[in-house]
Amino acid sequence: MTTSQTSCPWLRQPPEGLFGRLLDSLADTYVLVLDQDHRVTYANVSFLEHFGLGWENICGRPCDLLGKLFRGTDAIEVGFCPTELSPLYPAKTILTREVEGKAIVYESTIYQLHGAEQAAWTVWSLRDVSDRFRLESQVRQMDDLERNLVQASMDGIIANNMLGDILIFNDGAAKILGYAPEEVIGKLKVYKLYPNNVAHEIKRLIYDPGHGGAGILENYETQVLHKDGTPIPIWLSARLLHEDSREVGIVGYFRDLRERQRLETAVLRNERLATLGRMVARISHEIKNPLVTIGGFAGQLRRTAGLPEDARRKLTLIYQEVQRLEKFLADMSTFSRGAPPQKVMADLPALIREVAELMDDSFKERGVAFRLETRTDIPPISFDPGQIRQVLINLFKNALEAMGDGGELRVQADLRRDHLVLTITDMGHGIPADQLPNLFTPFFTTKEGGTGLGLTIVQGLITQHQGDISIDSEAGRGTTCTIRLPLASA
Ligand code: ADP
Ligand code: MG
Repeated sequence: MTTSQTSCPWLRQPPEGLFGRLLDSLADTYVLVLDQDHRVTYANVSFLEHFGLGWENICGRPCDLLGKLFRGTDAIEVGFCPTELSPLYPAKTILTREVEGKAIVYESTIYQLHGAEQAAWTVWSLRDVSDRFRLESQVRQMDDLERNLVQASMDGIIANNMLGDILIFNDGAAKILGYAPEEVIGKLKVYKLYPNNVAHEIKRLIYDPGHGGAGILENYETQVLHKDGTPIPIWLSARLLHEDSREVGIVGYFRDLRERQRLETAVLRNERLATLGRMVARISHEIKNPLVTIGGFAGQLRRTAGLPEDARRKLTLIYQEVQRLEKFLADMSTFSRGAPPQKVMADLPALIREVAELMDDSFKERGVAFRLETRTDIPPISFDPGQIRQVLINLFKNALEAMGDGGELRVQADLRRDHLVLTITDMGHGIPADQLPNLFTPFFTTKEGGTGLGLTIVQGLITQHQGDISIDSEAGRGTTCTIRLPLASA
């Protein structure tokens, strides 16, 4: 090629040495260089071979003569000759050409290289992007039904061409990844949606026949990256897309695993609690009878006349300790029974007032003021009064126990859409952040003589009412417990 290039009479500054060799080594990019008069001064080997041209045919020719290689007037007017382009460089355009009845689509890029003098070289490069366009036109041709199906899918669906450009990004994907479709389609490379090297690994597995067949990857557990950078566990199935046996893209379907993982933990926890419950019921039953005997006799004996004072003191101690154990057993059996709620339509604020009255002495003892703020239009809702009374007692007790120096215990009842929301706020010592995850774990307690079952019981009862409970607290800042109960309950 070099010999014919140098024989061209118009050739002024042929790119030589490394630069020339570099351009010739670009197999998929067709490069042409024009001098300041817009005459062809260099073409790389790929250019000549791809267009079937000899160097002597184009050397020194005005560039617009080459426009006829491409289809339509657009190519000549807009896309091809840099003399007719706006002064904005690099300029990108799309050109098409028909070869044996098939359209080839090129992405054309034009740069200007300024030399030391005023003279400028223009470098024109073409890349075959037919694959991308084929897939894009497939996407465009999807009918409304298909489009809606893809859009409405709960799963994330992403399709990309072989260059990694994203062409489909449905609502499911948007929800999981936090991007709006217009932020990624045609803008972001698909590998950017995965942690380091994951996209590469996925591509390798798709070609590997061991994962559902060649060109298919099935039920692969991996991660994607949320827009904010958080990794999200997903289940991915992917498929290579073909057209006329050519690979044109990859479509991936994926499901967010966070919800499933959360459910799995919850199920595991419930199973553990159920086993624990059965054990507790059995143990309580075995211990309860002897305990009643011991407590009963100790109580009778300490009232015996003429008992030495020391013996009476010891018997009282036995009696009190047995009482403490009985209370512990009572807590344990509430926890283990898990009886289904006997729901009736009732007035929840009235029940709150009733429990507060019941505990009035304890409030006064600790210098705690009780305040109930409730809307007047709260309708009767369906709940088990015995169980919700237990919930309120457990929560009020915790609040009291946290408020050593008095303060206010505020209960608010409000309506939010189809839920009644109850918040119980105390001004106690609060809960350190590292303890928050343990609050509902059975036997978690920070109190001497605590059972650590109060909140476990509360959570169990609220769940049985199809409600939920959360606790918000900070050490030194008090604690707020929020309960949501459905207004219309099954
Ligand atoms: P117990 O009261 O027997 O310790 P609970 O399940 O009722 O068991 O509570 C577990 C733990 O949660 C308590 O030991 C305490 O550390 C913390 N806690 C619960 N409620 C509050 C509250 N209102 N203020 C501060 N800490 C609380
Ligand atoms: Mg408690």
